[in-house]
Amino acid sequence: MRILVDKHNYDWHRAWTITERTFSYTNHTLLPEALETWPVWLMQKVLPRHLQIIFDINHHFLRQVTHWRPGDHELLRRMSIIDESGSRSIRMAHLAIVGSHKVNGVAELHSRLLQETIFRDFHEFYPGKFINVTNGITPRRWLNQSNPPLSQLVSSRIGEQWKKDLSRLKELADLSDDTDFQDAVAAVKLENKIRLSNVVRNQIGIELNPHALFDVQIKRIHEYKRQLLNVLHVITRYNYIRHHPDENVVPRTVIFSGKAAPAYRMAKLVIRLINDVADIVNNNPCIGDKLKVVFMPNYDVSTAQLIIPAAELSQQISTAGTEASGTGNMKLTLNGALTIGTLDGANIEIRAEVGDDNFFIFGLNAEQVMTLRQQGYNPWDYYHADAELRRALDMIRDGHFCPDDCDRYRYVYDALTHGGDHYLLMADFRSYVECQQHIDELYKSPRAWSRKSILNISHMGRFSSDRTIQEYANRIWNVKPVSR
Ligand SMILES: *Cc1c(COP(=O)(O)O)cnc(C)c1O
Repeated sequence: MRILVDKHNYDWHRAWTITERTFSYTNHTLLPEALETWPVWLMQKVLPRHLQIIFDINHHFLRQVTHWRPGDHELLRRMSIIDESGSRSIRMAHLAIVGSHKVNGVAELHSRLLQETIFRDFHEFYPGKFINVTNGITPRRWLNQSNPPLSQLVSSRIGEQWKKDLSRLKELADLSDDTDFQDAVAAVKLENKIRLSNVVRNQIGIELNPHALFDVQIKRIHEYKRQLLNVLHVITRYNYIRHHPDENVVPRTVIFSGKAAPAYRMAKLVIRLINDVADIVNNNPCIGDKLKVVFMPNYDVSTAQLIIPAAELSQQISTAGTEASGTGNMKLTLNGALTIGTLDGANIEIRAEVGDDNFFIFGLNAEQVMTLRQQGYNPWDYYHADAELRRALDMIRDGHFCPDDCDRYRYVYDALTHGGDHYLLMADFRSYVECQQHIDELYKSPRAWSRKSILNISHMGRFSSDRTIQEYANRIWNVKPVSR
């Protein structure tokens, strides 16, 4: 608007039409704390002309809203680009919606929640502006480049067209009952697990058994992603093995990786807790190979490309309604991992593609999460009702994993109890642990596991970024391919 009006002397109306037709807004999160707002005083100081234009845009916009619902002052307050409560600030998401011809979420649930919750007024005011474009990943990086043995195995059976048309992977479904192919997929996985084990030995000095189930949670460390729920399960498993030393449990290696934002105290503490739990578990002689815990430092795309081909279980355990889409979930499935996940983000669509029998869901869905919070959620109910959960939490509280600094994780315990457990870990714990037991059962039958792994890989066609980009081109950018 500034360039068109100030520099090229367009009148406001013509400049606005061009602006609106040019811009589109892809929302990437529902978490209100992640939606930017900028103080008016700061904007006044740094970009005074932009601020003036924002006020003008808001004036035109609110006039239209007034015509739409005359006299509804509460509505004007909610929809305004300027938040007038307290010291005034600019709601950048509102500005983006008003200034765009399309607004999209990045998975079906996320797009629906945008329309029904945080942007509900805008969806009613602008019918047809809100759409969904489910995220995707590039099969060139996340299979061809990162996992050569699996790529070559796939190509040996169905040719190479999958690299440019991922839907061709569906031809693998016919091979899911072929025991030779099941064994070949398992052999490739083992090869990748050995490769990862060698890196883990050299980088962090932990010796892994490549025949253990490789259970992976790699993503930014955040409370909503619930790495702590995974830790609570790890501790529960540690306790079970210690108290049943003669039982033949399915050996597990739980691998974490992820960075914390520098000022995010809880996320930093979770990284430290994982490392402390790893030290205790990995050095307990009664545990041996039955449980290993690994935290890979400095998570980045290169680390992801190393870990993902070796993963057998993909942990996608965010509180339902918080993960916009996720793409790690897609990368891991494409590489043959089975998912343990909540009905959140693109997990829902992955499950619909691969089939309910080939996907491990647990926990509350987004509606149940909203209802439980409305009713008044009390984490202590779960603490008192579940002895294994209570034991795991008490061990965190009492410094079992940091004997010379007993209070180190008090803050973690407090957040899940007195603090109200905002992301409902306690509510989902029992369902999660039971789901993990079903996973152990399946792992005892390698061919049944491999069959499900093949069915997962073969139904990943929809999650190619080629499909995603095609949808953006058709439905948002209105661009056509050049003929060549
Ligand atoms: C794919 C990827 C992510 C996103 O992971 P989610 O599990 O979807 O949060 C983050 N970081 C890196 C390095 C990735 O490759």
